[in-house]
Amino acid sequence: MTKGIAHVSFSGGGMFMAARNPYDRQLLAEHVLSRARTKGQVQVLIDNQRWVVHRRPGPRSVSCSRCGLVVDSACYLVAKEGIPYCVSCAFEDLPVHSEQLRSEAEQRAS
Ligand SMILES: [Zn+2]
Repeated sequence: MTKGIAHVSFSGGGMFMAARNPYDRQLLAEHVLSRARTKGQVQVLIDNQRWVVHRRPGPRSVSCSRCGLVVDSACYLVAKEGIPYCVSCAFEDLPVHSEQLRSEAEQRAS
């Protein structure tokens, strides 16, 4: 997967989107959120990470584990299942916390 390109897939289709700068990433986050709301589930491959975004099926709310925002569609990093993020933390701030995730993974490995 080329760096700076996100692959967004959902039932019935998929597309590539640029993710090179903060503006690209903001558009990506908005797009993923609207797809999750209409399709129920979206998979995003970005920077060699696989994310799954789920729309909440019921009224139960989920809050982002990073910023605390209550979201109707939560993003889960497949390698760290069970930790929800909002689309902004997952995709707009990804360079920041992909570093965190990498160092956490390294700590676990050592
Ligand atoms: Zn967040």
